[in-house]
Amino acid sequence: MSFKSLKELRQMQQEQADRRAAGDRPKATWLSSRLGKNGDSVKFRFLQELDEDAAGYDEARGLGLIVMEHDSPWLPGSPSKHARCTMETEGQCYGCEVSVSKIEGAYKWKAKPKIYVNVLVTPEKEGDAPETMIASWRANSDVVKFLLSHAEAYDTLLNMAFKITRNGQKTDTTYTIMPLMSDKVLAQLPLDGAELYDLEQYIIKVPYEKQPEYFGAATPVAEAPSEVPSRPRATDSDEW
Ligand SMILES: [Zn+2]
Repeated sequence: MSFKSLKELRQMQQEQADRRAAGDRPKATWLSSRLGKNGDSVKFRFLQELDEDAAGYDEARGLGLIVMEHDSPWLPGSPSKHARCTMETEGQCYGCEVSVSKIEGAYKWKAKPKIYVNVLVTPEKEGDAPETMIASWRANSDVVKFLLSHAEAYDTLLNMAFKITRNGQKTDTTYTIMPLMSDKVLAQLPLDGAELYDLEQYIIKVPYEKQPEYFGAATPVAEAPSEVPSRPRATDSDEW
């Protein structure tokens, strides 16, 4: 393997260290991998409800996960810097500590709920099989607000297919989602036999003592973002 620059080598080493800190998540395909650029859209249906009381809840398929996570505002050029809040599991959590500290922008460290859920996606090429992917969204996003109102109106997320479209690039990106009143699309996405990812394995968990480093405590804020060249999204990126 060759490196174009020392910067690139350092970045790769950092990425490897991050994966180790995060417990080496197995590979998954994320819905965001099909929404890499402005105008991309994808049709999918939910394989899981978010609520046990919902009409489509099936014990065998389980539920989507709602997880409290911290995002590091210190590393805005590194969007995958999020990890589960460990206050409940470890009794201590770096993100929580910073969020109540006196530093400027401490409020940005507050833990926020994020949703992870298995979805079944129509194939890119006609004739191919549909593919299971993991969708993840911040719970306060417009997409999730829309989905929750859909779930309230129909008592399920499983009754229709949806189309999600990406608008814009980088930090100026929004997503619009609409239900598809199409039995044909729904028939292309059968619930029976669809594989599921074990979502718990894909939540980034960093032990307390490694959290300062993981979240970039040692990185001077001014240097971090501009040093990192922008590059295409990796397929296992789960950022929205
Ligand atoms: Zn926390």
